[in-house]
Amino acid sequence: MNPKNNSSSPQDRNLPDTSKKKNTRTSSVALTPPYTSKNRFAPLLTLQDNDKTDGTDDEVSSQQSQVRPKIPPIYVYNISDYQNFHTSLSNITFHEFSIVNTKSALKLNMDSIDDYRTATKLFDEYHTYQFPENKQLSVIIRNLPVNISEACIHKELVELKFEVASVTRLQNKFKTPIPIVAVLLSKSSAAIYSLNRLLHCVVAVEQRQPSKGIPQCTNCQRFSHTKKFCHLPPRCVKCAGDHHYSSCPKDINTPPKCVNCLSDHPASYRGCTFYKEISKKKKQL
Ligand SMILES: [Zn+2]
Ligand SMILES: [Zn+2]
Ligand SMILES: [Zn+2]
Repeated sequence: MNPKNNSSSPQDRNLPDTSKKKNTRTSSVALTPPYTSKNRFAPLLTLQDNDKTDGTDDEVSSQQSQVRPKIPPIYVYNISDYQNFHTSLSNITFHEFSIVNTKSALKLNMDSIDDYRTATKLFDEYHTYQFPENKQLSVIIRNLPVNISEACIHKELVELKFEVASVTRLQNKFKTPIPIVAVLLSKSSAAIYSLNRLLHCVVAVEQRQPSKGIPQCTNCQRFSHTKKFCHLPPRCVKCAGDHHYSSCPKDINTPPKCVNCLSDHPASYRGCTFYKEISKKKKQL
């Protein structure tokens, strides 16, 4: 009798292990009030309504699982075997996640920062976005004469104790510098808005309006994400080859080729039919 019991106990112990994820969820539901389980099954709703749920109700805010930062989606490209893809994700995550099919990639919404970080290590070809809380301040400083260099402005701002990431002199459509610079700063540098003199120039600081166009990645030439968060192979803006434009072998007599529409213009050309189409769709939204 005893030996039998002994031999069956490891199996009993194994059972929770093999279905670890389900049990983790079930046990946490059992330990918390019923409304937690309701929210746990609506992770997307929680992500969107984070601000609302955050502290509006004492009972809700006491549940740590509700206080979550917004987690950017991960767009994974070139998945040939969905089963494998799904299994590898299920093996690493302990929370809910969802997969949304988009035109060119699978969009992954993870439910925790740890899962997000682990998932990004799984894939070679993906892009994502910046965490909202890491977003920097983006301002413009008006009335800075065009003969003051970016480096000089940068140095002066740092001396005024602003945490500056970059200073960029803006240009008009004819590529002539204008007396406005764009500055990226850390979130803690909001005092920049009160700045009214810089290098003795009377200036005005304003929040930079996001550009109306759709951002294009300078690494892969796809739209709606930027190079910094791109982990896709490079695609040349000039010849559509699989290299960065800085190592482009195209000579000046060979026409450019757009990797998005295959016509003979650089992929950054705003008259590109591919670009026109997606910006038209964006306007309809
Ligand atoms: Zn890219
Ligand atoms: Zn090239
Ligand atoms: Zn094109």
